[in-house]
Amino acid sequence: MDSAEYERKIASRFAAFDQDGNGYIDREDFSGAAAALLAEFGTTARSDKGQYLYSGAEAFWQGMAGIADVDGDQRVTRQEFITGAAKRLRDNPQRFAEIARPFLHAVIAIADEDGSGVTPSAAERVLRVLGVQPGVAKQVAAALDADGDGRISEEEILSAFAAYYVTPEP
Ligand code: CA
Ligand code: CA
Repeated sequence: MDSAEYERKIASRFAAFDQDGNGYIDREDFSGAAAALLAEFGTTARSDKGQYLYSGAEAFWQGMAGIADVDGDQRVTRQEFITGAAKRLRDNPQRFAEIARPFLHAVIAIADEDGSGVTPSAAERVLRVLGVQPGVAKQVAAALDADGDGRISEEEILSAFAAYYVTPEP
């Protein structure tokens, strides 16, 4: 895959972060995702899990801004995402997973409703809330449970997340 093709693939991930679809990624996209996840799982913003999710979302945004907000205006444009994020992520995919880790950890705490791990159906709900198409969400969630034991581990989620955003296909 050549560099131009890679950047096109990365650009297609931009829409996944631009949750409100206003053409740039900013803090509201992350806090909005947190609010939508809390609503889906019936968790309040004031609860420990709710606070944890919001702080994870803020850390995720700060990490994203740190690598991609080139002009420092607190917005990541499509072009900034391509030029700022793609090059760095191609060099170091795990870096991206580390930026997302606190948020994903908090999402897992919310989606793991009975304390026994995240089920594929809970993972599917998370993905749908984040704007993944229902059919794709179901497929991805099922694939996450690689060993078929009905539970998805944090490491499985982190590596799938990194792979989805920095490689051509999920
Ligand atoms: Ca946005
Ligand atoms: Ca910017």
